[in-house]
Amino acid sequence: MAKRSVADAKGGLSAAEIEIVFRRLSQHMPGRTPTAKGPKDQPDPFRSLVSCLLSAQSRDTNTANATKALFALATTPEAMLDLPDDTIAAAIKPCGLYNMKTKNIRRLCAFLLDELDGVVPQTREGLMRLPGIGRKCADIVLSFTFGEDVIAVDTHVHRVANRIGLTTARSADETARQLEVRAPPWAHCDGHFWLIQFGKAICVSRRPKCETCFLNDHCRFFSATG
Ligand code: SF4
Repeated sequence: MAKRSVADAKGGLSAAEIEIVFRRLSQHMPGRTPTAKGPKDQPDPFRSLVSCLLSAQSRDTNTANATKALFALATTPEAMLDLPDDTIAAAIKPCGLYNMKTKNIRRLCAFLLDELDGVVPQTREGLMRLPGIGRKCADIVLSFTFGEDVIAVDTHVHRVANRIGLTTARSADETARQLEVRAPPWAHCDGHFWLIQFGKAICVSRRPKCETCFLNDHCRFFSATG
């Protein structure tokens, strides 16, 4: 099979096809359950934000180790700011980019305390005003911590959505904006879970299992390459 990039999957699916794709995903992939493990499975909004900051360019297991080590030292913005930089950096070292992430954690904590009395906003706009928090982290907090029906877009969701043709976007943020409009409303609650599991199990990055994929009759990537 010829190698194609995500951007080569040109032309999005019709609304009817998108409905079929999400229907099938809902039948084949696990959705949001009480035991569903999101990438930043944190019930506390402050911890969820910090976990998301730590997850940038880091594997899930490394993020989990860094998160665990950091929250063993401090669990509030005040307590976090009391920690020396070296202590934070040492705790989060497993997730890489630890000096930059240490600075970002400090900026986040200071902003929360100085501007918001330590209260994490519950809107996307409010969350995205926080230092270091982009659309992905904002949507993860909205979905995983505040329980909103939002399809958070990480690298797996971005890849899968654009291969299939659910979206035609070059950035994860644009994919998120398009999914918000194109995905049927009933799919917003579980869409992130279906797509991320599908991306890890079937539509994997290097060798997607197209021949046996239950979506290959509605996939732009497959019709272009298969
Ligand atoms: S056919 Fe399935 S596995 Fe292959 S690119 Fe499309 S969605 Fe991914």
